[in-house]
Amino acid sequence: MALRPRLASASPLTGNRPAAFRRALLHWYDRNGRDLPWRETRDPYRIWLSEIMLQQTRVAAVLEHYRIFLERFPNVQALAASSEDTVLAAWSGLGYYRRARMLHRCAQELVQKHDGQFPGNSEALLALPGIGRYTAAAIASIAFGETVAVVDGNVERVLQRLLGAELDASQTWPHAQALLDNVRPGDFNQAMMELGATVCAPRAPRCLACPVQKWCATGRGEVARDPGIDHTPAARQSKKQIWCALDRRDGQGKSNDRGPEVRLVQRSRKESLMPGMWELPQTSAAPPRLSPEALWRTFRHSITVTDYTVHVLRNTELPAARGRWISIDRLPQIPITGLTRKILKAGGII
Ligand code: SF4
Repeated sequence: MALRPRLASASPLTGNRPAAFRRALLHWYDRNGRDLPWRETRDPYRIWLSEIMLQQTRVAAVLEHYRIFLERFPNVQALAASSEDTVLAAWSGLGYYRRARMLHRCAQELVQKHDGQFPGNSEALLALPGIGRYTAAAIASIAFGETVAVVDGNVERVLQRLLGAELDASQTWPHAQALLDNVRPGDFNQAMMELGATVCAPRAPRCLACPVQKWCATGRGEVARDPGIDHTPAARQSKKQIWCALDRRDGQGKSNDRGPEVRLVQRSRKESLMPGMWELPQTSAAPPRLSPEALWRTFRHSITVTDYTVHVLRNTELPAARGRWISIDRLPQIPITGLTRKILKAGGII
């Protein structure tokens, strides 16, 4: 059961302390915030893109995709005018492909109903496809300076520790809003998230290096139990093995001018995971009478809660897998799964 927030005497939410708290946090952020490309802009398109990419994905994994995606789709009009397959192809490797589909749908709605412009407030942003409360607040505060707080996992944890109490969602948002800096709301929101990501870490907060320790009930040792710690056991990963066939041949075009091809299979559009995407032919049952020479390499790959051991075979047709020969030149235009991308890269094919 969630505890009621205990507003300690030194809580940043009492008396005239919020102002000093905000100053200290923003001062720290100005000097210590990481240099990230989406922090160099107030363009709502770029901020929106970064926020969607960063959902469930590490910053390091997003950086390169963000750059490439912007090269291909420099603005909302370019994104809206592209096919969904082209967008998915550019998203390949980031996972959680529903985000890319919603991004595409949202871009089309912006062009059709908003003349290609982002609405300038969180309420109107919230009405767009794929934009929830957090993303709407992030875009509105960072791009348009609206005084609206964001709450993500990092902010929630920082708030709980500051107050020394467990908070449920109905309590967290009002506390975040009360703490917000009205002059620099976008920077303040990013500072809270940055603090959670780099200092107030989930399992080992670095309180001695924290710019707001003197306002923090947990950092000052006033609570018996760290309210920001996730006490739920980590989800257990299941383990599976699969066998993939990596087959390559010279092009078979009539004029003999087609380049090399690889054999790929398109997943059903009804699949819940990665519908419609292309991948190497694969099977979950070890092929019978497999010669030792057929095994090229073994990879480890994780998708959501499953760890896969992937045996990649060469010159071996898998019984159940048909597939189509696809020109390697076409691969940048079609959506391929992250695992297939990883294998094709390792094989020097892309
Ligand atoms: Fe987190 Fe420690 Fe800073 Fe409190 S003092 S906000 S627990 S890092």
